Amino acid sequence: MRTVPSILHIDMDAFFAAVEQRHKPSLRGKPVVVGGVGLRGVVSTASYEARAFGVGSAMPTALARRRCPNAAYLFPRFGAYHEISQVVMGILREFSPLVEPVSMDEAFVDLEAMTQGPPKDEQEVRAHARRLSALVAERTGLTASVGAGTSKLVAKVASDADKPHGCVVVAAGSEQRWLDPLPVRKLWGVGPATADRLHTMGATTVAELRALGEHELVSLLGNAWGGQLFRLSRGRDERVVSAEREAKSVSVEDTYPHDLMDLYSIRAAVTELAERVVRRLREGGHTGRTVTVKARGHDFTTVTRSETLAGPTDDVRLLLPAALRLVDGAAAAATGQMRGIRLLGVGISALAEYAQGDLIAELEGLGEYTPQGAETDEAHAPPAEPAPVPAVTMYGPVPEAPEARHWLAGQDVRHPQWGPGWVQGAGLGRVTVRFEGPDTPPGRIKTLDVADPDLEAVDSAEVARAALPQEADIAAERPAGPDVGG
Ligand SMILES: [Mg+2]
Repeated sequence: MRTVPSILHIDMDAFFAAVEQRHKPSLRGKPVVVGGVGLRGVVSTASYEARAFGVGSAMPTALARRRCPNAAYLFPRFGAYHEISQVVMGILREFSPLVEPVSMDEAFVDLEAMTQGPPKDEQEVRAHARRLSALVAERTGLTASVGAGTSKLVAKVASDADKPHGCVVVAAGSEQRWLDPLPVRKLWGVGPATADRLHTMGATTVAELRALGEHELVSLLGNAWGGQLFRLSRGRDERVVSAEREAKSVSVEDTYPHDLMDLYSIRAAVTELAERVVRRLREGGHTGRTVTVKARGHDFTTVTRSETLAGPTDDVRLLLPAALRLVDGAAAAATGQMRGIRLLGVGISALAEYAQGDLIAELEGLGEYTPQGAETDEAHAPPAEPAPVPAVTMYGPVPEAPEARHWLAGQDVRHPQWGPGWVQGAGLGRVTVRFEGPDTPPGRIKTLDVADPDLEAVDSAEVARAALPQEADIAAERPAGPDVGG
């Protein structure tokens, strides 16, 4: 156990929405929702102004529109976010070579690995955290929240404790006391299904969860997850900050102390596993396309079933129905006529970075979500090759078909007469553009023909680069501090 809270977790505040507000002056101080804007779209990020109306991440966009009809609903511009993410990760590496990016807007930094030596005490950690936060603001124009603790768990929970622009350092030795009053949902990996089951057991806070005891948690949630959750509830987390993480697939599995005997408990367990796997997927900034369910019967017969979705996604509402369909078949095959499932697992493979199934489906006109069955029994066939990811990149401009230009809300454009702008909406052969750029005053709206040959799509990464403070300005302002080695 560390005696100095030297693990930092940094998390950009409402990242996607904040970038949109930075690049689109007319949206500053206004509700902004970034995500899939179609019928089945899901909110990725809501600005704080939109959160005040009850809009939040992973909510169906249709519901968000009912709660906050006046928000700007924008497609993500991953190229721009990626560009800014690189700047943030670069700042973190100036502090310590040991940086573990979790997603585009989130990373762990281990200050023990600092080139000029680890921080000696909590005050030094706090000074580094403040400086880091100041540098991010200066070089990106955006705010971040920083948490520090003796473990990744505590650092992560701490960065979330005082958003936005927070800085929370949890002193070594006070972890348990600090975690105790928090809701169980704050603990790593606890999704709605786990939280519901814990609430049923009378545990709404971390202290109550801990009071249930390890034995109770294991019989409720299985060996691996129940045991891990008990350790987390005590602030115990041995995971190290690791600079290399390459995952081709993510999966979670659990063995149960008592065989699961009925479909109801099997389905409840799969729901929990699916939520955990989606969390892991999102933490890695990934989406996946092939869902695999593994079931092991009482006699160790192991069956896996998989299904490939129409497009990659990180939406549990798309993945869970597939997992539930698969587990019915897998459980039946693993147990035969006989009772009892002792192990279940849920995995997702064919990972893609930062692409969203609903967006891809909308872009490609794939329409309805239609899973394509692809079943394999582990005993008889080798695991299926992951299905290829559709060749749609979310980094650059949207691919253009010359005959029908497809403008997306939020997309960057330029017009020789009106200058830089972004698409507010399109339909009925017209496209509405607000002509403004990151460094102009709020601009005016013009309505143009969708086929207007003068209207040009612009790469969002280019817009992001141009909006960053220039290198020369930064070098002049760079305060003395940790070595900027390498
Ligand atoms: Mg964030």
